[in-house]
Amino acid sequence: MEYKTTIGLEIHVELNTESKMFCSCKNDPLEKRPNFNICPVCTAQPGTLPVANEQAIRKTIKAGLALGCKINKESKFDRKNYFYPDLPKGYQISQYDKPFCEKGFLQIDNKNIGITRIHLEEDTGRLIHSGKDSLVDYNRAGVPLMEMVTEPDINSGKKARNFAQEIQIIFRYLNISSADMEKGQMRVEVNISLSKNEKLGTKVEIKNLNSFRVVEKAIDYEIARQSEVLDDGEKVVQETRGWDEKKQITVSQREKEEAHDYRYFPEPDLPTFRFDDDYIAEIKAEIPELPWAKRIRLRDEYGLEDDSTIENFVYNKDLGEYFEKVMSELTSWLGKKDQKITNLAVNYIITDFWALFEKAPIEELERKVDPEDFAELIKMIYKEEISSKIAKQVLSEMFESGADPSHIVEEKKLVQMTDTNEIGKIIKEVIDNNPNPVEDYKKGKENALQYLAGQVMAATRGRAKPETVQEILKEQLKQQNP
Ligand SMILES: [Zn+2]
Repeated sequence: MEYKTTIGLEIHVELNTESKMFCSCKNDPLEKRPNFNICPVCTAQPGTLPVANEQAIRKTIKAGLALGCKINKESKFDRKNYFYPDLPKGYQISQYDKPFCEKGFLQIDNKNIGITRIHLEEDTGRLIHSGKDSLVDYNRAGVPLMEMVTEPDINSGKKARNFAQEIQIIFRYLNISSADMEKGQMRVEVNISLSKNEKLGTKVEIKNLNSFRVVEKAIDYEIARQSEVLDDGEKVVQETRGWDEKKQITVSQREKEEAHDYRYFPEPDLPTFRFDDDYIAEIKAEIPELPWAKRIRLRDEYGLEDDSTIENFVYNKDLGEYFEKVMSELTSWLGKKDQKITNLAVNYIITDFWALFEKAPIEELERKVDPEDFAELIKMIYKEEISSKIAKQVLSEMFESGADPSHIVEEKKLVQMTDTNEIGKIIKEVIDNNPNPVEDYKKGKENALQYLAGQVMAATRGRAKPETVQEILKEQLKQQNP
């Protein structure tokens, strides 16, 4: 039987501030040396006082503004009390009834997913279990952690994945977090319930999902599992589950104890925060073009139609910016927009440049192959001065040596052969030297023609235009026919 699926997400993101949330320790949760970035404040020594990190607050408000949230003019921190060894104070400074941001939304697949709230808190330390010992590392304790809670507006694994991926792109554009799931900089928790009617079913929590792929799989698995339980007339147990990557299933981690009583109360050591309109306007002014706007602009401005090309340029922001720099060179050179040259640039960036992009970070790539030189290369292809095959060779030479394309072409004599007499001579030689393939072709074997064309291309070192070769080759072969 089909059930109504209701999914809400809780997303935690470590903010990329210089220092921690309430002290001046370096914010570097990936630091390998244990307990290296710690101080009396983030290890909760008696008598220490927290000081809030303004950058973290600004980044949180920025996230809220980008996601259409209402920014609370008055906001405060609260203590969330619970005991765990990775939490030195015995409470976490978090936000309870007055988070920085509330009531936003993000559109995914043409549907608004509500965002209930975005608040700021501090991350915990980390426990390391080795043999009989449990060790604690406080490098991560006190790192600013932003938590976003969605409305239960999601109904499939795919949609949850799309939402989380879009959030990652947005946070990267806003430069508030690298939001890398594998590194724990972004953590997604799923609340999922199935029901026959409008009344919500029993809520199951899925935690420790460390990639977008796993978010989608765990949800799809859970929908199937809970449907089966309900089909059998049984009750879904309220519990927390985790993902078992080996078995590709969710497994029970713990059944829900009594709802926690965190005894929230206002953090007495931090003031209430009040933001005026100017302050919020100032943060709003820092928001760059966001992915949805960029998709539309890439389509309109460059006539891009292929969704995957657009996504490539949106997801890989640097690559998209590189493309735009190249296009700006090309457009000013041509003095107008031209779809043919745009498509050429797109193709070479998505395929050949991309292959280099995998090898080196974009800053290094840009240093070696600056957009102006890349545009120069595209111009040469456009003007048919070099063949597409040579273009690939020139690009990899550019990457190796950093030289500009016209120098490489000149020095290595790679200019496209345009003299049809010259090409004709080479073709004649190839025909004379390959009597068997020529016979095969005459018997109707099309492959033989490709073989002969390949020989000609090899003889010209790729400098002849393939279409021209085909044309002259066919003609010469026809003349041979009695
Ligand atoms: Zn500290």
